Amino acid sequence: MVAEYLPWHQPLWEALSGRAEQAHAYLLHGPAGSGKRALAERFAAWLLCCQPQVEQACGNCSSCRLYQAETHPDLFYLQPEEPGKAILIGHVRDLVGSIQQTAQQGGRKVIILEPAEVMTTESANALLKSLEEPGPGTVFLLLSDQPSFLLPTIKSRCVLQACPLPPADMATQWLAEKLPETCSEERDTLLQLASGSPLLALEYARDGLLRQRAEVVEGVKQLLKRQSSASELATRWAKLPAVLLLEWFADWCQAALRYQLTQNEEDLGLADMQPVLKYLSGLASADALLQLHDWILERRVKLLRRAPLRQDLLLESMLGQWLALAQRKR
Ligand SMILES: [Zn+2]
Repeated sequence: MVAEYLPWHQPLWEALSGRAEQAHAYLLHGPAGSGKRALAERFAAWLLCCQPQVEQACGNCSSCRLYQAETHPDLFYLQPEEPGKAILIGHVRDLVGSIQQTAQQGGRKVIILEPAEVMTTESANALLKSLEEPGPGTVFLLLSDQPSFLLPTIKSRCVLQACPLPPADMATQWLAEKLPETCSEERDTLLQLASGSPLLALEYARDGLLRQRAEVVEGVKQLLKRQSSASELATRWAKLPAVLLLEWFADWCQAALRYQLTQNEEDLGLADMQPVLKYLSGLASADALLQLHDWILERRVKLLRRAPLRQDLLLESMLGQWLALAQRKR
């Protein structure tokens, strides 16, 4: 494995690698898809390297070879057993036990912990002491999309490094290099859906998200025309990523609301939903749109916090409210 170089990380790289003395713990935080993991991997390889260069690990020393073979004994990962699950106290205790031993390569020990916000309170508390007094040469790299969910005691023990998304032109250029076979219009749509994150846009392209989006937009139209019911659609969308669906619907509420105020078509967002949103904004009251918007965002936070919500029931309820928007009079 070779840590990927992402061009928008250059200033972050300089901030991290240019420190006179390395901290014991860093929190790399920023929106999903800003490339925190790639940055952490590159930094970890550099911290472990026996002859680090200014821009990167040397790639040739014994440590670099172990890193590339993914067998470095002094590089540890702490993450949930499955995506979406919590990091449990047992995992933290195992890790703390391992890092108390001397570094096998005689250099540093690096721990990549991702996503930091899924540590339970117990796990976080079990980690605190190690964060505060790690052994010599131990460096923790905590990664988080949702740093507001972290305990303040964890955050205060880390050097915070914000990892923002790249500027639009850099994102466009990077994505064009990764997806040369797609047209620029498609790439722009992907980037817009990914809120400007090129990594997320690339993932969306690989997951066939544009096709899923078309399916959802078609479903919304069928719902409003009474050709499909809320429960039918909720069942049909059971395999789609729920958080993303909620984000789309929240965005649509907001776009309809904005259009009510401005009558500016640019406020309607991507072309695929413009006719629907225009139609809805003529029927629904601002209050109703705002209410549904807030309801959706509340559920989104619950999902992000891994509350046990049933996706089909949640979607059915949202779609029922969405349909009701078209029935209300201003
Ligand atoms: Zn090296």
